Amino acid sequence: MSEQLKIKDGVVVSLDYTLRLDDGEVIDASEENKPLEYLHGYGQIIPGLEKALSGLTVGDSKKVVVPAAEAYGEVDMDAFEIVPRSMFPDDMELEEGLSLTVRDAETNEPFDASIAEIRENEVMLDFNHPLAGETLHFEVNIPTLRAATEEELAHGHAHGPGGHH
Ligand code: ZN
Repeated sequence: MSEQLKIKDGVVVSLDYTLRLDDGEVIDASEENKPLEYLHGYGQIIPGLEKALSGLTVGDSKKVVVPAAEAYGEVDMDAFEIVPRSMFPDDMELEEGLSLTVRDAETNEPFDASIAEIRENEVMLDFNHPLAGETLHFEVNIPTLRAATEEELAHGHAHGPGGHH
């Protein structure tokens, strides 16, 4: 009898998961019968979750609490920026919490931001990841595991049933 495959570097893991915040709100989940597939040990998922899955095997379930520092990071106070209201079109309706893409004036590089605060002539933008500062509560189970192919290892990610991408 062969040894049962366990989650370690170089294993393609399929993962059913539900993700909740501290208050219990579900913010993400895999679709039924459509687990997330990833290559373990290659930084494809957040570090705290990857670490906690190490050693699990097919059929295992686990609750994993990942602190912000091992998920999307703490809120960075330097990632807030105050810009003039006039930067936005007059007819654009601004509201706190609104997500938008801001382009760097010089490089035109896009950045995701959200509106943290609206003042009379100014808007405070928040460039933190939307989940920065959040403790993440995962419930996971492992429907299948398989060894990665040479190609997947070379690419550093899992290839779905559709083949190479
Ligand atoms: Zn590839």
